[in-house]
Amino acid sequence: MQRWQIGHVSITRVVDVMQNIDLAFLIPEATPENLAPFASWLKPHFLNSDTTVPLSIHTFVIQSDDTTIVVDTCIGNDKPRAMPDWNQRQSSFLSDLTTVGAAREAVDVVLCTHLHVDHVGWNTMLVEGAWVPTFPNAKYLIGREEWHFWEHEEDPFGAEAKSDSIVPIIESDLVELIETDHVITEQVRVVPTPGHTPGHISVLIESNGERAIITGDLFHHPVQFAKPGWQDIADVQSDVAERTRRDFIQAYGDETLILGTHFAPPTAGKIVATGGEYWFKAQDSDP
Ligand SMILES: [Zn+2]
Repeated sequence: MQRWQIGHVSITRVVDVMQNIDLAFLIPEATPENLAPFASWLKPHFLNSDTTVPLSIHTFVIQSDDTTIVVDTCIGNDKPRAMPDWNQRQSSFLSDLTTVGAAREAVDVVLCTHLHVDHVGWNTMLVEGAWVPTFPNAKYLIGREEWHFWEHEEDPFGAEAKSDSIVPIIESDLVELIETDHVITEQVRVVPTPGHTPGHISVLIESNGERAIITGDLFHHPVQFAKPGWQDIADVQSDVAERTRRDFIQAYGDETLILGTHFAPPTAGKIVATGGEYWFKAQDSDP
């Protein structure tokens, strides 16, 4: 279990799916040859010896004072999906959440950084043939701009998610449509990081002089700190995403702890500048 302490706020990673992929499937320029120059810092955590990369689909549970926040809800169980690793899953995700103190009835806030299929799955669960909200006592924070984009668009990576994981929440009385600078608690707020999707947000945690940020899918893989201009086929607006990645590196390339939404363990680290180039220094979670 990975857990980080940022001042008075704790953040825990709860994994739904781990898979190894050919990164060039997502980022065409990230071929084994092009990744090789970065192997010294990508290996062993972010680059496998067979040249695939590990990709993690996980939730971050944030405990901020009395508020329990779940950031991104992964793939989910029982969902029909085109991707074999994501189809009709039967995972222990909910009991794993309970183990870290976030039983589904105890979650106060559910936040999706954006509405792609791998960020909304556990929004709902199957009960007697119907998709119902998994977190019955939570407020579900959905970006207003994000929803208004997907309302009329189809996600090319998982169109099925709209009907079973998004619309049931939009139509529930648990939803709150938020702006891209929404403040959740005194220590936790969202910041706009557009481009991967038009209403994409990251989550900034600041407490007692310490700072962390959850990337969302602005970064799929740490090599993007070195190569923010490599096009990611999942980015809806490539040029905007590249600009946002470059701005992000400037804004958080200091002592901010970066928590990657798809980064394999150790998942967290710092952006380091050496000779005008950036790389990612992985950092173990707190004991
Ligand atoms: Zn994703």
